[in-house]
Amino acid sequence: MRVLLPFLALYRRHTFLLLLGMVLAITTLLASIGLLALSGWFLAASALAGLAGNFAFNYMLPAAGVRGAAIFRTAGRYAERLVSHDATFRLLSHLRLFTFSKILPLAPNHIAHFRQAELLNRLVADVDTLDHLYLRVISPVVSALMVIVLLTLALSWLDLQLALTLATILLLMMALMPPLFYRAGQPIGQALTVLRSQYRNQLTRWLQGQAELQIFGAEVRFRQQLDHTEQQWQQQQQRQAALTGLSQSVVILVSGLTVILLLWLAADGVGASHQPDALIALFAFATLAAFEAIIPVMHAFQHLGQVIASATRVKQIIDQKPVVTFPAAGVAAQASAGLQINAVSFRYSEQTEKVLNQINLVVAPGEHIALLGRTGCGKSTLLQLLTRAWDAESGNIKLNGHPLQHYDEATLRTMMTVVSQRVHIFSATLRDNLLLADASASDQQLSDSLQHVGLGNLLAGEGLAAWLGEGGRQLSGGEQRRLGIARALLHQAPLLLLDEPTEGLDANTEQQILQLLHRHAADKTLIVVTHRLSGLAQFDRICVMDGGEIVESGRHSELMQQQGRYAQLYQRIE
Ligand code: ATP
Ligand code: MG
Repeated sequence: MRVLLPFLALYRRHTFLLLLGMVLAITTLLASIGLLALSGWFLAASALAGLAGNFAFNYMLPAAGVRGAAIFRTAGRYAERLVSHDATFRLLSHLRLFTFSKILPLAPNHIAHFRQAELLNRLVADVDTLDHLYLRVISPVVSALMVIVLLTLALSWLDLQLALTLATILLLMMALMPPLFYRAGQPIGQALTVLRSQYRNQLTRWLQGQAELQIFGAEVRFRQQLDHTEQQWQQQQQRQAALTGLSQSVVILVSGLTVILLLWLAADGVGASHQPDALIALFAFATLAAFEAIIPVMHAFQHLGQVIASATRVKQIIDQKPVVTFPAAGVAAQASAGLQINAVSFRYSEQTEKVLNQINLVVAPGEHIALLGRTGCGKSTLLQLLTRAWDAESGNIKLNGHPLQHYDEATLRTMMTVVSQRVHIFSATLRDNLLLADASASDQQLSDSLQHVGLGNLLAGEGLAAWLGEGGRQLSGGEQRRLGIARALLHQAPLLLLDEPTEGLDANTEQQILQLLHRHAADKTLIVVTHRLSGLAQFDRICVMDGGEIVESGRHSELMQQQGRYAQLYQRIE
């Protein structure tokens, strides 16, 4: 249960609404008990008065009381639902933002451990389940306890013994049943939470992998797996429903027995009177109504297992400490960018081998560098260290003489433009996909950037409002790359880091794009990772990486003269 504490702490912000919700819940319950007890007494008393020929019986006051309680109950229930749900929604939105703000800094290293569907499930479904905590657990328990106390006080005024008997039975039910049903409901709740997320994961995987599944004929097998999970999920839901039914029937049975007990005890008269009278009906109906107040408590504890399981899953995310943290304020942005990479080594946390081994590289402001090397030699990793996706294990990286760690995140992002190896196209309009790079760019600028990279054809038809990605136009691999470059052109930063920007482009287009990049970066620092050997003569320096080290560096002509690794590569391709 301790796992719930951080979530309870969030309640402090909405204390007023939450308390008001409970006060209204208590009022409504009392009005409902009052209504039943009073009308029971009223009917019985009228009948007795009629039989006795007592026409002086004042029926106005109780009738008004019944009407008043009925109005109170209806209005109270409405107000209670309004207030408590409003409070819960505020709480949920707060909780969702809180969870999301914890997830953001974890990218990309921690998030990689969770699949996307899993993460979404935790953020949406598990956070949703946490709303049970107030609505289904705290509010019903507190209200039921308060109602028992107030009801006992009111009834003891009429008959202490009867009031205490009823209170004892109600309190015993409250003390015994919830732990029992919590125990019984816990494994079901946990299984439900896990199965729900498993089902969603499998469903998204099945939907996303449709093409592959069809090609390899694996669709049926995946479908069966999905059906199997669904059946298990439904079984658990059935078990939960059965448990709910059981708890309800136990409460109804005990309430029936209690009414009989009270009738029997009251048969000799209520309070000081030693004759049976209409007050017996009042006690009988008050008992029935009081049991209604404790039914939600029984449900509450069945759901607590599910709430705790969800809380644990959300907490697993929010408890993770981001490896990379940025200072709140740091070095101011500068107009040019020089880099000093000093003896940087790096390994991915779960791997034993170093990906980068004592890399040294100094890049002067305005220099254009090509980074070359076998696949998997660590080129993308080096670029990612420059963006602080990760921090180096040893050594340091300085930007204009300041360690990268001294820049706040916003400044660092304004200092560099990055085109990563996999360009992500958002399922959004063409305009939104470009505005990402510069939110203030005009439509004209956006169209120009597309024209520059040869994507003018995308503007035909709906223009910038065209929808890309899911549910819209799918882009070819080369078009995606060029859209990435169009974004880079829009984002004005002194340092450009491009990871294989021309991959998948034909030789002609590649040359055009490289020219464009050199022109665009005429006064900027440029680092391009590439596998292609054409056009390298235009770079100020070529660095060849191997085994996590820079093994050769120099201009194209120098490296060709050296007859080293670069020259070998070049000759093999030529
Ligand atoms: P390519 O030319 O194929 O893009 P690269 O030089 O860019 O290759 P990197 O992506 O830097 O290579 O990867 C270097 C090594 O680190 C590879 O062996 C890769 O498997 C590993 N690696 C890359 N990213 C991760 C990660 N997130 N977690 C663990 N290992 C990783
Ligand atoms: Mg790479």
